[in-house]
Amino acid sequence: MNIKILRSGDNYIYLIVVDKKAVVIDPASAQSVLATVRESGFHISHVLVTHHHFDHTGGCHELKHAAHCEIVGPAQSSIPGLDREVVDGDIIHTADLDFEVMALPGHTNDHVVYYCREKSVLFTGDVLFVAGCGRILEGTAMEMWNSLQRILALPDETLVYCGHEYTLDNLEFALHIEPNNIDIQDKLEIVREWIDRDKPSVPSTIKVEKLTNPFLRAANEKEFSELRRRKNIW
Ligand code: ZN
Ligand code: FE
Repeated sequence: MNIKILRSGDNYIYLIVVDKKAVVIDPASAQSVLATVRESGFHISHVLVTHHHFDHTGGCHELKHAAHCEIVGPAQSSIPGLDREVVDGDIIHTADLDFEVMALPGHTNDHVVYYCREKSVLFTGDVLFVAGCGRILEGTAMEMWNSLQRILALPDETLVYCGHEYTLDNLEFALHIEPNNIDIQDKLEIVREWIDRDKPSVPSTIKVEKLTNPFLRAANEKEFSELRRRKNIW
């Protein structure tokens, strides 16, 4: 398995490739995806969507028609061309891999993430970012907190591929919250260099997020809510 990281503005689009079979996660747009699959001779079987926001679904329609793939996403949401609705606990078998669906509301009510247990890879959309988390737009702080706790329960070595490149801003906020945290200091230094060289800051790991992500380090829901409130006005 190989994961290709494509950028569309600050959105990440992922292309998971096994042999010539490809699965797309959150196509903000179709262009770069189609260019990559044509150039490499990949065949897209499925598009997995985490939530209904346009910056995660903008390419669905075009991909469905150009690549004749199936669009998979959460039920009760307005995802263009949705073929298969998923709920918590569903398993999508595609490109010889199994993706477990976890329903993690908070950013939106419909938000799901996709976990490939055998490869220890998690696609978190706008629930968990590197060193941050999504804004609570539809759900409640309690829902978002519970969603993050479910991610925290996954194995430390799990690779985290998130929906946006917000890492630099997130780490600067993290350091503002915990100025003496050496792990945050070190990571900020590394990420500054990566961003300078246009290198993506994904994937992270659950282990690193436990050390550097203030939203995962909050002791309880109250502390988490307060952090989220402070980040909103940061
Ligand atoms: Zn979103
Ligand atoms: Fe987004």
